[in-house]
Amino acid sequence: MLGQMMNDPLLISSQIEFAAKFHSSAEVVTRTVEGPIHRSTWGEVARRSRRLANALQRMGIKPGDRVATLAWNTQRHLEVYFAVSSLGAVLHTINPRLPPEQLRYVVDHAEDVGLFFDTTFLKLAQFLALQSSPLRHYVALTDAPHLPADSGIQDLRDYESLIAPEAETFDWPALDENTASSLCYTSGTAGFPKGVLYSHRTTVLHSFAICMPDALAICAADVTLPVVPMFHVNAWGVPYAAAMTGSKLVLPGPGLDPVNLTELIETEGVTSLLGVPTVWMALLAHARAQSKRFSTVNKVVIGGSACPPNMIQAWEKEHGARVLHAWGMTEMSPVGTTGVLLPKHEQLDEAARLALKSKQGRPIFGVDLRVMDDDGAIVSHDGKTSGHLQVRGLWVAGSYYKREHDDTHLPDGWFDTGDIASIDADGYVQITDRSKDVIKSGGEWISSIDLENAAMSHPAVQHAAAIGVPHPKWQERPLLVVVKAPGKDIERAELQAFLEGRLVKWWLPDAIEFVEALPLGATGKVLKRELRTRFADYALPDAKSPGNA
Ligand code: ADP
Repeated sequence: MLGQMMNDPLLISSQIEFAAKFHSSAEVVTRTVEGPIHRSTWGEVARRSRRLANALQRMGIKPGDRVATLAWNTQRHLEVYFAVSSLGAVLHTINPRLPPEQLRYVVDHAEDVGLFFDTTFLKLAQFLALQSSPLRHYVALTDAPHLPADSGIQDLRDYESLIAPEAETFDWPALDENTASSLCYTSGTAGFPKGVLYSHRTTVLHSFAICMPDALAICAADVTLPVVPMFHVNAWGVPYAAAMTGSKLVLPGPGLDPVNLTELIETEGVTSLLGVPTVWMALLAHARAQSKRFSTVNKVVIGGSACPPNMIQAWEKEHGARVLHAWGMTEMSPVGTTGVLLPKHEQLDEAARLALKSKQGRPIFGVDLRVMDDDGAIVSHDGKTSGHLQVRGLWVAGSYYKREHDDTHLPDGWFDTGDIASIDADGYVQITDRSKDVIKSGGEWISSIDLENAAMSHPAVQHAAAIGVPHPKWQERPLLVVVKAPGKDIERAELQAFLEGRLVKWWLPDAIEFVEALPLGATGKVLKRELRTRFADYALPDAKSPGNA
């Protein structure tokens, strides 16, 4: 017997139309690429998205066509998000920090027919226009006065002139909810990037999920500033969830530096921030130097790589904000777990509470997790035994775009995340490493994340990365690469002594190197591969190795 309820499909067009109808005056504020702050509303974003949909149709964009963007977090990018997907075409957000050969690869692989780009990325657009790609339409996300002259790109148009003559009404098609909506390629640390093709259904379900109070709790009362880019994993789904809830959205455009972020947070009264740890490292250091307190911020969602405990403390103590540590990945739309506490945790002492908050959190409904050991057995939730973290769920990729026959999933349908983790009895996940980053010492694993977190809890350490360096006896031993905090100094011996109190003896690094900065990848994560290459011939002070005793 089937239920007798209405069976409306889950569509992205319904999110923007809901925003237009019920949150039309909620604000969308952008730091524009041209410079000034631009103020708008969800009602205006919806009207302009419909204008763009008319323009896209006039350009000949058809359902299923891939339309690429190379753009910052801005209102215009937001409109492209809603118009392209709601039309039944596929929004392909490209990470502008990809190396050129990967950039060309993703455009060719996706067979993009159109490219909407910020003028910041003119050179990349020119590079793509020179290639024999299927790209036919180029639109600069700006107005006529700012359209680059002599760009060399044939028929380059500016966004404002493109949408100005169009009607602000549009009948969105009644798509099948399983229609593809957007495409995002993983950063591809090894080999070429792989495309994750989201659908309307998975996007809307993920939007509902991240609005839950125990997830990212996006709501109408929030002023949300996603520093996490719209060019990678749909800015963690925030644009869609914000439209659904009418959250005021503050979009930082190209201004991701601490000075611009500080100004936006203060002038717009931002309550909720989202981004990767490296962004907050710079912002917190800046605020400290200026003796500034962000009094309006009450929630900071941190994910993409492990959030060090000292960052949680800094947000709590220096700014009175609650940190929500989240874990996920491109293949998971991306949110999988969030670090909310349970009532019983109110009794925890400060150290235990911080240790729990530093874990990656518990799964949100819609995501299932398990940990498998090397022999294929499922590991119990004891919070100690780690293994390969595997997932399945309502917004998890079933295969990669045009690589459907690759063996990326396990025979029983689960997806191996490539992360090594343990799960405790309450479901809290602790990621110890990417499987390719674990340090293997004498047959045992040393968690580089634990080592890095211990180092970063010293006030003179701004950033740290631990890598395995070949060792004749132990196979690998840890080398800790450290960036000192601005204006602070520390000697190797002092840091080593500090770590001795915090880590088991055989986890202690065999050597510490100080550097000016760590190499960061396209999504703000430390490029361990690059560090390993750089220190490939590193000579460890062999005799002093503490070994696995
Ligand atoms: P990429 O495009 O580089 O694959 P993703 O954004 O998909 O990037 O990254 C997913 C990976 O990032 C996860 O598998 C995990 O290794 C890491 N990651 C994400 N969030 C966290 C976190 N909170 N703690 C530790 N690692 C994290």
